[in-house]
Amino acid sequence: MPIRQLTETLIDQIAAGEVVERPASVVKELVENALDAGARRIEIVTAGGGKSLIRITDDGCGIPLAELPLAVRRHCTSKMEGGLQGIETLGFRGEALPSIGSVARLSLRSRARGADGAHEILVHGGRQDGPRPAALSGGTAIEVRDLFHAVPARLKFLKSDRAESAAITEVVRRIAIAFPGVRFELTGEDRSPLVLPAVEEAQALERVSAIVGDSFADNAFALDAGREGVFLAGHAGLPSFHRGTAQHQYVYVNGRPVRDRLILSAIRGAYADVMPRDRHPVCVLFLQVDPRDVDVNVHPAKADVRFRDPGLVRGLVVGAIRAELARLSLRGSTEGAEGLMARFRTGVVAEPAPVRHEGAPALAPAPAMRSSFAFGERPVAPYDPARSPSRPLDAPPARFGGFQPSARADGLEEAPAAPARGEFPLGAARAQIGRAFIVAETDDSLVLIDQHAAHERLVYEALKEAMHARPLPSQMLLIPEVVDLTEAEVERLVAEEAVLRRFGLHLERFGPGAVMVRETPALLGEVDAPALVREIADELTEAGGAAGLGLRVDHVAATMACHGSVRAGRRLQAPEMNALLRRMEQVPASATCNHGRPTFIELKLADIERLFGRR
Ligand code: ADP
Ligand code: MG
Repeated sequence: MPIRQLTETLIDQIAAGEVVERPASVVKELVENALDAGARRIEIVTAGGGKSLIRITDDGCGIPLAELPLAVRRHCTSKMEGGLQGIETLGFRGEALPSIGSVARLSLRSRARGADGAHEILVHGGRQDGPRPAALSGGTAIEVRDLFHAVPARLKFLKSDRAESAAITEVVRRIAIAFPGVRFELTGEDRSPLVLPAVEEAQALERVSAIVGDSFADNAFALDAGREGVFLAGHAGLPSFHRGTAQHQYVYVNGRPVRDRLILSAIRGAYADVMPRDRHPVCVLFLQVDPRDVDVNVHPAKADVRFRDPGLVRGLVVGAIRAELARLSLRGSTEGAEGLMARFRTGVVAEPAPVRHEGAPALAPAPAMRSSFAFGERPVAPYDPARSPSRPLDAPPARFGGFQPSARADGLEEAPAAPARGEFPLGAARAQIGRAFIVAETDDSLVLIDQHAAHERLVYEALKEAMHARPLPSQMLLIPEVVDLTEAEVERLVAEEAVLRRFGLHLERFGPGAVMVRETPALLGEVDAPALVREIADELTEAGGAAGLGLRVDHVAATMACHGSVRAGRRLQAPEMNALLRRMEQVPASATCNHGRPTFIELKLADIERLFGRR
């Protein structure tokens, strides 16, 4: 076949393949146009997941009659005055409207400010019709019908109406966060309406809450940092406020929503220490960069950007989040406490269990509490404060052989037995319940501490710290343990032998597919060496060869910490409990365990009073 020039329509359809991938991309382009036109109100109506109808109405500057035909022509734009350097508008490529017009029925109605009347231009399958007079009081109204009817192949790849409709919602939510001063209304027969009233700049967090959820504001910290002309603002969630996907990370560069790998990986790096790898923080980050220092012309969909100095941007994001995490280390999530409140409400108040009189002891618990355990399960002994696991701490010490923490080395026994409750953020330990939780009291709250989670974090931090100082002491095994593994695992372990030795874990290759463990870290006390080694091997496999030494070391430290920590089920003495609380107050990041779960939750006295109807 001879070489020939493609028709305009075909060229537009090819471009459309990149710009308009699905109905949500049409909505994105049209909303961006409305925002670029300075709109304060944007209304979006969809039908059939956006396939049959997308209508966007704005109160922006409008398009003068003479420019209407240009607006729908390829490579025509009123933006990008300064060339590709320094783009300050959301659009700049001049291809959205012609692309949409080539694969759908497009109608563009507009009335420029000060113009006598409105005009309409139609584009059907790439062919223009008009402009002719039309009715519109101001701004621009764009209607897109039968999207992709001209390219059935594309139509086949679209998802269900429900999925396409959800994708549209997501696009609107994402962009709306960056424009709190603009009112958005998204309605249609295919959805439940989303209405976001305009809010003042100072109340921008309201817009964020409306989109990310109300609990975010209570579980996030503000960011405000700058470095060499790059500025970071926004909010990032506490480590205990994590989600199963990175969907809840909203990142903007100069107001443009982006899915930028560099920034997403910087976020991951900032939380690497305080969150399990399969969980994701929630955050809303706004980066301001000199437009000349960022290239937004990387992909037609404009969701990728390239920074002139990626290291600077990464360093700013990681540094700012980490600094706040360290500063706020003692702020736990209120999510746990809220859940607790709900439990109290439903468990105690809403579902009273039937009262059983027969054989009930004189001091029967309130009937409603009984749902949590069965009577008559075991003989009820008279209450002996000295033996009760929940005995008050001022009571004489129990006579049973209490737990001696294996990790004495980290100073658990040094703190005063029972400090005044107002003295410390985590208060004074009052009791231990379920052999797993410490109950502490501050001036205005009740604090519940997960002893295993808290201790694990402290051991982890001690291990990491030790890595930068001298090697940790080890403890020789009486009989060296041989651990069978796959050859690949053996190789990974042997490659890290020097690192492991610094932690006090001495192992060596023992023939094919096995290692021999000779010494284990003294800090961990009695430890199941084969289990520890297998888990470290797993960690190394997951961390992969690509991970830096620092990251691998952290993984190993985390695995070790988990093995050596005060497990739930051990009874703690009062001084041990208080020592644990004091250590937590000193160690950054101790509000969450290594897996990102909270180590403590706090219930305010005011909330307790509310539970009893006193407020
Ligand atoms: P781009 O946004 O990259 O310039 P588009 O094809 O999206 O390209 O739009 C072409 C032009 O049409 C814009 O540059 C703008 O001048 C005009 N335009 C499009 N939508 C609107 C709108 N809602 N309000 C005012 N002008 C608009
Ligand atoms: Mg545009």
